[in-house]
Amino acid sequence: MSENSGFHIQTVLILAIFALVFGLIHFFNKRQPFPGWVALAYSAALGAYIIDSTRHESTHVGFIFASTGLFWMFSLAIIKAIYVRCNAAFPSVLVGLILSSAITAFVVLTFVAPDISIRSVLVSVVAAILLALALPPLWKAGEKVIDGVLFGVIATVALIFVARIVVVYYLHGLSLTEQSYSQSEYAWIFHFTSGICALALAVVLLYAAGLDMVWHFHGQSNRDPLTGLLNRRGLKALFNASADQHPNGDLTRAVILFDIDHFKRVNDEYGHAAGDKVLQRVAKTASGLCQEQAEVARTGGEEFAILTGWIPFDSAQQLAQHICDSLRFVAHPELAADHKVTASFGLVALANGDSLNDAMDRADQALYQAKRNGRNQVALAQAA
Ligand code: GH3
Ligand code: MG
Ligand code: MG
Repeated sequence: MSENSGFHIQTVLILAIFALVFGLIHFFNKRQPFPGWVALAYSAALGAYIIDSTRHESTHVGFIFASTGLFWMFSLAIIKAIYVRCNAAFPSVLVGLILSSAITAFVVLTFVAPDISIRSVLVSVVAAILLALALPPLWKAGEKVIDGVLFGVIATVALIFVARIVVVYYLHGLSLTEQSYSQSEYAWIFHFTSGICALALAVVLLYAAGLDMVWHFHGQSNRDPLTGLLNRRGLKALFNASADQHPNGDLTRAVILFDIDHFKRVNDEYGHAAGDKVLQRVAKTASGLCQEQAEVARTGGEEFAILTGWIPFDSAQQLAQHICDSLRFVAHPELAADHKVTASFGLVALANGDSLNDAMDRADQALYQAKRNGRNQVALAQAA
């Protein structure tokens, strides 16, 4: 067994393990396609590596095509993974153009004007160009550290793919032949750098997939599944986070609590499913009207709480009134045309030192007052 075969076995094992790990992550969380594409990329890399590292002078040309195709598929699946992760539109036309030109050139360099040296340059350069297509969406997405790290690693891998050819040909010139390829320094450097690059990239991609899962489950634990709004826990986290952002001047945070009027009747007359639709529409309307000013949470069955940012109290009052005025005009096709859905509102300005619970209690008393005053209206809480 040659020294190289130890390295080859290690690389094959590493590629296989990563293909399996990403495949399992995708299997257990199918809603996230990113690990699925990475699993495909590493399966392709595994196939390409096995074929290329066992290649000898009489290897059938079909295998050479297969290993090149799989190697390019690795780059393609990696960029697809990045595009789905960044929610960016995949540049299919550009990729199609690059691939069709690359395949044509590969066929020419194999059958028409055979030149294995230029062909091996082509293989690496095309893989590098494909990988570089992952950089623009990462650059645009780059508000998170992981996007920056992915950008850096993918850019480095693309550069290494090109640099390795420059290095080999600077040292040895363009003198590869089908016979010398498997024993050549080029092949050794090609396998070594491919293995190292695939390993470095896999570690970062695994970290990104792990972070995605953490964000996903963390996001889920803070959200109400029916409406997608924050739940009580998410509201509390938001309250604590915005406490420190106290700006100068006369601004305050406010809590607006609202409860749908006679909601039990909706369920009783039209069924629970219709009630759910109404809740979703009310949630959407309120959060649409809040825009950047405030965040809406669902704090109970048909009860919602709005936490404003630091705004003038007048604006909070106008916001509550605006939502109250708007809700009755929302169309609910599940209900009779003359069935208007309204809500009653309690509004409180947060005093210094108020906890969220203090503020909610006072807003709740105001809401109760609004109900007693005839519903479909806003009531102000007493000062703390
Ligand atoms: P009020 O004007 O006094 O608030 O009257 P109400 O009927 O809205 O109040 P009540 O508390 O008597 O009823 C609330 C209803 O909300 C009862 C419950 O079945 C319904 N509800 C709570 N959560 C959900 C939910 O997730 N989906 C649906 N469809 N209904 C829900
Ligand atoms: Mg209620
Ligand atoms: Mg109610």
